[in-house]
Amino acid sequence: MSSVPPILSVIVPCFNEEEVIEHTNERLARALGEITPDFEIIYVDDGSKDRTAELLHSIQAGSPKVRVIRLSRNFGHQIAVTAGVEYARGEAVVLIDADLQDPPEVIADMVVKWREGYHVVYGQRVDRPGETKFKLWTAKMFYRFINRLSEVPIPLDTGDFRLMDRSVVDALGRMREKHRLLRAMTSWVGFRQVAVPYSRAERFAGTSKYPLRKMLVLAIDGIVSFSAVPLKIVTTVGLAFSALSVIGILYAIIQRLFTDIWVPGWTLIFITVLLIGGLQFIFLGVMGEYIGRIYSEAKNRPLFLVMEELGFEQGQAPRIQPGAALPLDDLAAPVRQGA
Ligand code: UDP
Ligand code: MG
Repeated sequence: MSSVPPILSVIVPCFNEEEVIEHTNERLARALGEITPDFEIIYVDDGSKDRTAELLHSIQAGSPKVRVIRLSRNFGHQIAVTAGVEYARGEAVVLIDADLQDPPEVIADMVVKWREGYHVVYGQRVDRPGETKFKLWTAKMFYRFINRLSEVPIPLDTGDFRLMDRSVVDALGRMREKHRLLRAMTSWVGFRQVAVPYSRAERFAGTSKYPLRKMLVLAIDGIVSFSAVPLKIVTTVGLAFSALSVIGILYAIIQRLFTDIWVPGWTLIFITVLLIGGLQFIFLGVMGEYIGRIYSEAKNRPLFLVMEELGFEQGQAPRIQPGAALPLDDLAAPVRQGA
């Protein structure tokens, strides 16, 4: 193999995907082969418990264009994708799910847009057969909500299926936050962005690895990482309730001093106590979200740990130091030094 970097890198995060992975590889390789011979596919095994790792080994043995990274445990979809991106050497990097819900054939359209000079080409779903009403509804509410709150808009109906130019990938490499929502992060980056419409297929096989719990975590990440609005709401509501309680206190004092009907007031007090108590818990929760984030950023741990790398040639250091927590004095340095 030459050590010339490939033009196109495709990142496929895999968590327990034994049912789809071989088929995915075939279809992906075929679709990419029609675009350019200079591509690489990077599979990131996100701590799968099934035969995914084994299958990836044999896929890699059969193809020099395939590379495999195995993370030391399940780090979650967004981190798995991040790992792949950091190992990618292509001039353009594509993110795609392992389950073929995003048709690999759309990548050709993305590359066309990229060659026209766009830096981010994101897939925009026009319809999604086979998804439950609940999933569609929650996804829609999620984007509504995020776009209402967040400082950077996230285009509607987009997932992580997208092509990014090297300049964007390098920029992402400098964003070391632990709570990651890549679709929001690539939007924050800026540059020239454009959508490519496509229709999202049903999962080819296997089950969704995104139960409601993980979807909620993703939604909270999206909101809290890109917006301080919840904190502002807390302050406003807190102030409003303080003002209300002043009235309540005045009322109680007047009742106590100038009338003799001050015992029956307990109903009001009871309600007030409950209300304020409840609100305080909510606010503490919101504060806790942000403080927890400060805590996990402050620890400055690496984003992920790799236990095995397959198919990477000697002397071909990834352009970004994979997973590294940046030392503070490196934060201002350009990422591309090692290229
Ligand atoms: N995935 C992962 N780690 C996880 C969960 C999911 O790498 O902890 C991968 C999964 O293998 C798939 C992609 O992320 O390639 C999207 O997951 P899935 O298709 O289950 O999500 P959905 O399409 O239902 O939102
Ligand atoms: Mg899926």
